Amino acid sequence: MIKTENLTKVYNGKKAVDGLNLEIAEGDIFGFLGPNGAGKSTTILMLVGMIEPTEGKCFINDIEVARNPLKVKEVIGYLPENVGFYGNMTAEQNLDYFVRFYATMDATERKKRIEELLELVQLDGVSQKVGGYSRGMTQRLGLAQALLNNPEVIFLDEPTTNLDPEGVLQLRQTLKKLSDEGKTIFFSSHILAEVAQVCKTIGIISNGTLIERGTLEEIKTKLDVRKTVKIIVETTNEDMPKIEHENIINVEYKGRRAVIEAKSDIREYISRYLLEDNIGIKELRIEEPTLEDVFMESVYKGGK
Ligand code: ADP
Ligand code: MG
Repeated sequence: MIKTENLTKVYNGKKAVDGLNLEIAEGDIFGFLGPNGAGKSTTILMLVGMIEPTEGKCFINDIEVARNPLKVKEVIGYLPENVGFYGNMTAEQNLDYFVRFYATMDATERKKRIEELLELVQLDGVSQKVGGYSRGMTQRLGLAQALLNNPEVIFLDEPTTNLDPEGVLQLRQTLKKLSDEGKTIFFSSHILAEVAQVCKTIGIISNGTLIERGTLEEIKTKLDVRKTVKIIVETTNEDMPKIEHENIINVEYKGRRAVIEAKSDIREYISRYLLEDNIGIKELRIEEPTLEDVFMESVYKGGK
């Protein structure tokens, strides 16, 4: 569905995207993750045919984007990082302006499409001019615009930036709905937690290079193999005594709590040790690596 081959973009002698090979299957919700400046927007701009690669190719449905930009535009929708509209028009007027570019729809179809989409993004019945919209409303209108041509593949560049938690939730629900309709979704973000909520597979980009690719679970499992164990322990009311064990790498003490980094799961040892001293245990658990940890480890491994 979406494919890149050695996709590269050079700006001023510097590779913003560096030999990217990526395949995304039909129906996937793909999360393209990476810190700011990693090359996400540049990749998306090449995929939607707004800029040309310096080297390499990209394909949508086996159509090479740089050679057939207009053909590709028929099957894709794109929500840019900073979407803009005519502030002195309503949502409906703005969409009506853009939908006219799609010559295949007649006036009745266009009207119907706009109504459907405004309902989908919950802007139906809003008569206010777009100039007075909140960032979240503008973003929703941007999504409606990206869907005007009923695209098979939808690119969203950091769509959750500046959305409040409710806006993020709404977006997530809309994306799930679109995915259920069979659409392929390419979603970029620098926030792992958001991608994790909605995406089926993810790719992590750092310095223009793809450093991880797979389902979220696959990537977590892969990293867990070499990861140390983080154990959280808290006593019922005494201060935490000093804990020593050959497998302990580091301990952070904070009153009744300790956060232990160890080479193996030594919970049994800790519980015996504390109980021998008659110290009650309020909590003793392993902390799973957060997605942020997984992300940081990937970026670090990528040589950043
Ligand atoms: P991201 O979207 O992941 O934050 P970008 O794709 O916007 O990253 O940028 C990747 C790198 O390319 C950055 O170092 C950025 O400064 C550079 N870059 C992006 N667009 C341009 C441009 N039009 N001209 C020069 N450098 C650019
Ligand atoms: Mg960007």
